[in-house]
Amino acid sequence: VEILKNRIIRDGLAVGSEILKVDSFLNHQVDVTLFDLIGAEFRTRFDDVADKVDKILTIEASGIAVAAFTAKYFGSVPVVFAKKEKPATMTDGYYFAEVMSFTKRTMSAIRIDRKFLKAGERCLIIDDFLAHGQAALGLVHIAAEAGAEILGAGIVIEKEFQKGGEKLREKGVRVESLAIVEKIENGEIFFKV
Ligand code: 5GP
Repeated sequence: VEILKNRIIRDGLAVGSEILKVDSFLNHQVDVTLFDLIGAEFRTRFDDVADKVDKILTIEASGIAVAAFTAKYFGSVPVVFAKKEKPATMTDGYYFAEVMSFTKRTMSAIRIDRKFLKAGERCLIIDDFLAHGQAALGLVHIAAEAGAEILGAGIVIEKEFQKGGEKLREKGVRVESLAIVEKIENGEIFFKV
C-alpha cells in the first residue's frame, strides 16, 4: 500500500480537484511488478473468502490487467470483464446495466454474456478506480440479475469524496480499497490514513 501511494504521489497527476491521472503505471502503461504486488495485496485483504471465489468480475479496459494479476492469487479463477460496446459475436443474450460516466458526462451500458456468469457463482469485483461507484454498481446489478453472489469489491484507488464506496457499502458490498484519496486540492493528493 505504501509503494502504491508513493507511486501515486511520484507519478500521478491531479487534473482539477476530481480526476487523478495515473496513466504511466495504471491506465495506459502498465507496471507489471506493481500489478503483481496489488494482486497479492488483494489476496491478503480477501484471504478469508479466497477459497470461495469462483470468478473475478471487472470492466474493460483498465480493469482487465489488474483483475488478471489478482486472479493468479485466487487460484487462477477466470476473469470476466464487462464490455462497453455490444460485439456482433454477443448473440446468445447478455446481462446489461446502465452506467453513468461522470467524467465523460454520458450514459453507457455494460454487458456480460450470459454464458460467462451463472446463478450461484461467487464473484469478486476488481477495478482500478472507484469514483461515483457507477461502474461497480453496474456489476452488482448484473450479478444480481444472474443470481451470482458478490463477495466483495477490491479497488486500487478509491476517491472517497465521490461517494462510490459509500453507495456500495450501503448496498451491503464489502469494499477493500488499497489507496483511499480523501481530497485533491491545488494539485496535491491527500490520502486517508
Ligand atoms: P465510477 O464513477 O463509475 O466509480 O468510475 C468509473 C470509471 O471511471 C472507473 O472505473 C475508472 O475507469 C474511471 N475513473 C473515474 N475516476 C477516475 C480518475 O480519477 N482517474 C482515472 N484515470 N480514471 C477514473
